[in-house]
Amino acid sequence: MSDTIFTKIINREIPADIVYEDEMCLAFKDVNPQAPVHLLIIPKQPIATINDIKASDREVVGHLFLTASNIAKDMGFDEEGYRVVMNCNEAAGQTVFHIHLHLLAGKPLGWPPY
Ligand code: 5GP
Repeated sequence: MSDTIFTKIINREIPADIVYEDEMCLAFKDVNPQAPVHLLIIPKQPIATINDIKASDREVVGHLFLTASNIAKDMGFDEEGYRVVMNCNEAAGQTVFHIHLHLLAGKPLGWPPY
């Protein structure tokens, strides 16, 4: 797949407000936040969409959720609640084709999201 803006963030070619990093993933603030807390958690390995996840990616994809859970706990949102969502393709609102979890918190979040 071709590089997206998220590869540039991983490679520090463009700036981002990074809140967590390890060997498999990066978490940073969304540039256009939809909640008081809106983070994006991305694998360092580029995968375009959920459709492109392979069985061999299960560790890294699981790691994204574990990282979201750890960040939410560290920020104190585990009791109050938060939302983790991943959009797949245009109809769901995906605009950057490098999979990412949105972690949203800090206000009551409506459901359904439309
Ligand atoms: P999607 O719509 O693909 O699910 O989410 C992409 C998200 O990436 C959007 O919420 C958008 O605001 C965010 N985003 C797009 N470009 C940048 C950027 O250059 N920096 C940061 N921090 N977030 C970005």
